[in-house]
Amino acid sequence: MNDSATEGGPGAAAPGSPCGDGTRAVRAGLPEPVKHEPTLPGPVFAAHFHLPGDPTGPYTYGRDENPTWTLLERAVAELEAPGQDGVEALVFASGMAAISSVLFSQLRAGDTVVLPSDGYQVFPLVRAQLESYGIEVRTAPTGGDAQLEVLDGAQLLWLETPSNPGLDVCDVRRLVEAAHAQGALVAVDNTLATPLGQRPLELGADFAVASGTKQLTGHGDVLLGYVTGRDAEAMAAVRRWRKIVGAVPGPMEAWLAHRSIATLQLRVDRQNATALTLAQALRKRPEVTGLRYPGLPDDPSHKIASQQMRRYGCVVSFTLPTRARADLFLDRLRLVDDATSFGGVRSTAERRGRWGGDAVPEGFVRFSVGAEDPEDLVADVLRALDESAG
Ligand SMILES: *Cc1c(COP(=O)(O)O)cnc(C)c1O
Repeated sequence: MNDSATEGGPGAAAPGSPCGDGTRAVRAGLPEPVKHEPTLPGPVFAAHFHLPGDPTGPYTYGRDENPTWTLLERAVAELEAPGQDGVEALVFASGMAAISSVLFSQLRAGDTVVLPSDGYQVFPLVRAQLESYGIEVRTAPTGGDAQLEVLDGAQLLWLETPSNPGLDVCDVRRLVEAAHAQGALVAVDNTLATPLGQRPLELGADFAVASGTKQLTGHGDVLLGYVTGRDAEAMAAVRRWRKIVGAVPGPMEAWLAHRSIATLQLRVDRQNATALTLAQALRKRPEVTGLRYPGLPDDPSHKIASQQMRRYGCVVSFTLPTRARADLFLDRLRLVDDATSFGGVRSTAERRGRWGGDAVPEGFVRFSVGAEDPEDLVADVLRALDESAG
């Protein structure tokens, strides 16, 4: 399910320019070749640009636009909506900057928004902020399409699928249809899937939003976010919000992100395949409960995931019997760093309950599978499980 055989559906590369994900990733956003110029031009460090006379674009001031962002934004749009015209991408300083820019540019006092109750851990803070501005916030869990019951009268539906860290999945097409039928916009957080795993705009969503900090850039060294959308007016409002709050990425970060996208398909395929291998190894362990990976055929998320995703991500979650057992397991791992975030080439894992924000058991572990050799990683995990048994 990860090759060009899946191309050709709605929104696939335009006729005449068919290509697979790897080809698209290495070429995404590159400018036309210019003799003696690099393939991917280096970062443009500029707070302002020469601007005699009337202040017309494309480049005026560094908070409004930057040529390094332009190339990255083209790359993101090509990945999120290959072959589709009119899709705009905007890059941000972080995933939260991107998320907040959609929420705060699209909603006003008196509006209603539906947020995931099991989404990214900053949502409770976002909720309080929205409510302080007179916006009604309703929540629904990601799995089971429970959003349908609280949609009435909402202006915006926010989906995070697969959800982080629980890995539940909702039916994006079905929820988009219900939301659009009553005039609500739909945004999908595509962080965990990456654009190679899922294309929310093709599923009908109005916005595909993501943290580029995770698997998109994949090296654990960049904070980045983006918003993509097709509706020019809505995107103009998001762009205006970026200007107002100044949540802009530095040129170096934007350039690093663009460089990293060239290896996206390689990283994603390796990491996701190993995630499935690890999940299969973990399911044989008696001390592991609540194992979740949407790529496992009997996972509760698998059926819908297989209808709308092309790859299932690099995150595996599971629960060990106690907090102490989970802490000891993490301590005994040698190839896996005890760290938050996910999607990097080096595996990380953490006891998610230590943050206090997610409704997860004390022994709940979120495991992000890196690009190590699968046999080395699985052996390390099984050894750490053995050694933590006490
Ligand atoms: C990490 C994450 C975010 C926030 O991204 P930052 O780049 O850390 O601001 C948002 N949504 C999901 C699903 C995430 O995993």
